[in-house]
Amino acid sequence: MHVVVLGAGYAGVTLTRKLEETLPPEADLTIVDESDTHLVQHEVHRVIRRPSITDAIEVPLASLFDRAAVVTARVENVDPDANEVVFDSGETLSYDYGALCLGAETAFYDLPGVEAHGQTLKAVGDAEAIRGRALDLLGGDTPASIVVGGAGLSGVQVAGELAALADEKGASDRIDITLLEQLDTVAPVFPEAFQDAVADELTERGIEIQVETAVTEATESAVATQHQATGETDTLDADLFVWTGGIAGPESMAGDRPVVRRDLRLTNSTFAVGDTARIVDADGEAVPASASAAIRAADPAAENITRLVEWELAGRGGFEPELTPFRFNVPGWIVSVGDGAVAQVGPEVVSGGAAKALKASVGAGYLSSIREVQKATELVGEELEA
Ligand SMILES: Cc1cc2nc3c(=O)[nH]c(=O)nc-3n(C[C@H](O)[C@H](O)[C@H](O)COP(=O)(O)OP(=O)(O)OC[C@H]3O[C@@H](n4cnc5c(N)ncnc54)[C@H](O)[C@@H]3O)c2cc1C
Repeated sequence: MHVVVLGAGYAGVTLTRKLEETLPPEADLTIVDESDTHLVQHEVHRVIRRPSITDAIEVPLASLFDRAAVVTARVENVDPDANEVVFDSGETLSYDYGALCLGAETAFYDLPGVEAHGQTLKAVGDAEAIRGRALDLLGGDTPASIVVGGAGLSGVQVAGELAALADEKGASDRIDITLLEQLDTVAPVFPEAFQDAVADELTERGIEIQVETAVTEATESAVATQHQATGETDTLDADLFVWTGGIAGPESMAGDRPVVRRDLRLTNSTFAVGDTARIVDADGEAVPASASAAIRAADPAAENITRLVEWELAGRGGFEPELTPFRFNVPGWIVSVGDGAVAQVGPEVVSGGAAKALKASVGAGYLSSIREVQKATELVGEELEA
């Protein structure tokens, strides 16, 4: 009996560590990722201003698992009906139970020039590229414009880092930063009080927010927009254009993000957890693509896979076991906005020092939960200094 987890992000790492505890000893467990490190992606925007944080947010996979075999290989294709994975080397891997935890990629929606001229942000290398270009602009003595397209978790936090970097370099006066969002608010899938507080923090840092404004095209030096309500068009100068405007499924799944429901099952023996899938939970709610949801969905996924493996090893007698439904309950949300932060805990929204300390403790809490106490300490230091 072989259980295979594809992808070692939040979903894959949390799921595999749980399965190490719960799977019967006769089951083999393998985790596959194209990288040999786990990236704490929800902190990657920090690299724009604090490159030294990279050490704290990259964790070697070899240090994370006691029982699972770690395979470093790029998945080219997955057939969830045939339980088969094809690697880019042409080799294949079969599984009895599998979990797709391959995350998501940036969506470009076929908007002309956006893929060619928009800098994406998913990896440390992307943050370094944004930093490099921003430092060129901040180091000059002429006015410059930065446009961030998409005001979800990443766009808000990138805009915040860029404003703080401009401030640190004494260049705030000649750098315009504009954050574009096609829906009618920043942080669109989050609670209203949180959205308002985030907008206040951004505005306080001199970031211009344009909502109901969709990017329609990008060139090397400009971004064209259209207002969603009035249809009015505009063209913004963009010496740097960062595109965080949406996500698509991973290439290995042909860009698809399949829907999974309460049991997180895509087929009888393949599960999908994290950003890879559009998850609709036990209350019928669409779950936001987030580290928070990926970590939380991993628990019921591990329970369900373990139950099915046990049932199978026992000879598949009687009915299939009942599976645990995933219900997304999150205590709150936290984003950083440069050297500030906004936290929603229950109905309360806080910003300033308390939110900043909470933000540091969430990242550190996650690293501690995967036994990376040293990195957790480094992260708290970097975060509180930010
Ligand atoms: C700048 C930024 C800030 C963010 N801030 C927050 C935040 O404050 N709070 C929050 O909850 N979320 C935040 N997010 C979102 C969060 O990071 C993602 O939702 C989360 O990473 C999803 O976890 P996952 O496990 O599904 O995927 P990922 O963490 O993306 O992991 C996917 C894994 O699959 C691997 N993989 C992909 N394709 C292949 C392949 N073909 N072959 C082999 N391996 C492959 C990747 O290497 C990766 O390790 C932020 C994201 C960004 C970019």
